[in-house]
Amino acid sequence: MTRSRKQLLEARGVHVAFGGIRALGGVDLTLRSGQILGLIGPNGAGKTTMVNVLSGFQRPTEGRIEMDGVDVSALSPRRMAQAGVGRSFQAARLFRDLTVEENLAVAGIGTGLSGRLAAERARDILDWIGYAGRHDQRCDSLSYGDERRISIARALALHPSFALLDEPASGMNDAECDALMAVISGIPGRFGCGVLLIEHNMKVIMGVCERIHVLDGGRSLAEGTPQEVRHDPVVRRAYLGEKASNDAIAI
Ligand code: ATP
Repeated sequence: MTRSRKQLLEARGVHVAFGGIRALGGVDLTLRSGQILGLIGPNGAGKTTMVNVLSGFQRPTEGRIEMDGVDVSALSPRRMAQAGVGRSFQAARLFRDLTVEENLAVAGIGTGLSGRLAAERARDILDWIGYAGRHDQRCDSLSYGDERRISIARALALHPSFALLDEPASGMNDAECDALMAVISGIPGRFGCGVLLIEHNMKVIMGVCERIHVLDGGRSLAEGTPQEVRHDPVVRRAYLGEKASNDAIAI
């Protein structure tokens, strides 16, 4: 199946409220094809809610999501995946009694690929991500770090125009983080998609992102290059408090 590549995934004036709680309060964000955009912010800033809205898991209370200018705010997660949005989750959510290849193939079939093509694509992604020779491993025997890598691979198996990765480095050790950075950096070149990366690990964020969008309390605080964001006094204050606002964000 060939699906046209999308160039832009945009949030326009997105609000999300859960009862009286404002998770997002009017956020504009643009993810471009081929770009790695970081999404950072303190706990509760609204990062996961933004990923949920961009992938159809949450409808905006106000505002809209556009893909190449078309309003896709009302699409289901499945339709968003078919339209070009792949995501990974904080909890890996793999089919634990299936193999890694089967997990990826199921994702590919869900986008309309035949079983044979989905399996071929699954093997190709697994080899690229460092799983050559381990395609038949069952997911209930994966280490934590491997589980997170397979979760990224499964997002890529959706053949996305945009891959949204929610805290992929969480719980990883330094060596696993370094390997992960190499994988994420390689995604746009290898798969031709844009990447939105939520991460608390500043080394990973600063190391792989071309631009970084900062949320705080459901609002956009700043967006810029890693250097710009790192030295932005408003961002430093949000992360480190007033006293530390003269220091750059520690990485
Ligand atoms: P973290 O870094 O801790 O994962 P986050 O930046 O991803 O945080 P969100 O998980 O998007 O933040 O949460 C934003 C706000 O919305 C928080 O106050 C959170 O408690 C609230 N929230 C998120 N999901 C729900 C929900 N389903 N019901 C009620 N409140 C929610």
